Amino acid sequence: MKRSGIGLTLVLVAAVAVSIGYLFGRTGDSTATAQDVSPTEARARDYYVPNSEDLAPDEMRVIACGTGMPTPRPAQAAACFLVELGNGDKFIFDMGDGSVERLWALEIPPAYLNKIFLGHLHGDHFGDLGSMFVAGALGGRHGPLRIWGPSGQVPELGKAYAVQMMENMFTWDVAGRIGQTDTRGFHTEVTEFDYKLENQIVFEENGVTIRAWPAIHAIDGAVSYGLEWNGLKFVFGSDTYPNKWYNEYALDADLAIHECFITVPDFVNKWRATPEAALQVGTQIHTAPEAFGKVMSEVRPRMAVAYHFFKDFDTTPGILERIRSTYDGPLSLAEDFMVWNITEDEIRVRMALVEEHVWNAPMADPALPPDPSEMTPFAAERTGGVVPGYSDFIYSGRWEGVDDVLREIYQEASDALGREFPYPGDE
Ligand SMILES: [Zn+2]
Ligand SMILES: [Zn+2]
Repeated sequence: MKRSGIGLTLVLVAAVAVSIGYLFGRTGDSTATAQDVSPTEARARDYYVPNSEDLAPDEMRVIACGTGMPTPRPAQAAACFLVELGNGDKFIFDMGDGSVERLWALEIPPAYLNKIFLGHLHGDHFGDLGSMFVAGALGGRHGPLRIWGPSGQVPELGKAYAVQMMENMFTWDVAGRIGQTDTRGFHTEVTEFDYKLENQIVFEENGVTIRAWPAIHAIDGAVSYGLEWNGLKFVFGSDTYPNKWYNEYALDADLAIHECFITVPDFVNKWRATPEAALQVGTQIHTAPEAFGKVMSEVRPRMAVAYHFFKDFDTTPGILERIRSTYDGPLSLAEDFMVWNITEDEIRVRMALVEEHVWNAPMADPALPPDPSEMTPFAAERTGGVVPGYSDFIYSGRWEGVDDVLREIYQEASDALGREFPYPGDE
């Protein structure tokens, strides 16, 4: 009895300490010392700047690259979360519209952005897959884009079908690049698993285990994921009605992400949904904020993350109030470029500050020059043996009036790099 009494006291002390920390923050002391302020020395930053911090070997960094809703807006892309691990692995969970732009702003060599886990196939959760397919291949991913996702009730409702159709959609795109640039990245590798798996392993490499379990969203074929590595656990719900599997398999999560839809009144007044649709979509297809809070009260993660709402000055108070009516634990109301640094000791939450005029990050391995010999096998596989190119009719429309200035560019390159670049057609 005495031991448990001491234990309780310690818990209470810890709770008070956490509360004080929560109320005042770690830098809440207004009596700044000389060390904090200097006219010449930089102070520590409380925001994240991409490509400015090493990831420690035991650290997990999660960055929100899409937190919004199915309609586009500059402030929030649709669903996407990046997980970076201290072992060098990176994983993307969902790939909603607009999220590729966010990922590129993080200044990560695209070769490392090659593993995507899709929770379900609503456009706001995989609409940027095509952009990633193309931009990643051009930006330095010289191997396949690896995609994991669940089956559906029939093959046409599964991930493999969707990815194959996406590749088919880009047939002209790839045909127009073969022989003109390095196209080794224009391939996919899909792992489709049974959507009824209950916390079963769908990925196990390099000390990382990812499990999937069913989600309940619109129709069969949606899942949630749990990633475990180095004693840390990350959970991503994608979209789901509150369900027993999440409550059970998200237990012990360090970071538990679960959708939290806008409130029904906002869905009617701001989105202009009918009350019938708002009630159906806002409470039966998705998770209402009050229900999100109840889920997190079951799971009790080190940090609960709510996303899938437009986070504005006039929507956030209502969402927070409703979540707080059912959950009093640690909470992040996600928005794009929110960053969580997770270690055994601490979860640090900050915002990232990104450069809008960012360029592609360096390639992890060098690109190869174009290889025209790739065109024949591509044609045999994709275009019935017809090698894509210009017909005589289209070629005859080229204006030769620019020939002289273009030849000068080739000569300029030859002079600058000390080797001969023959002008096309002259070889
Ligand atoms: Zn959805
Ligand atoms: Zn959604």
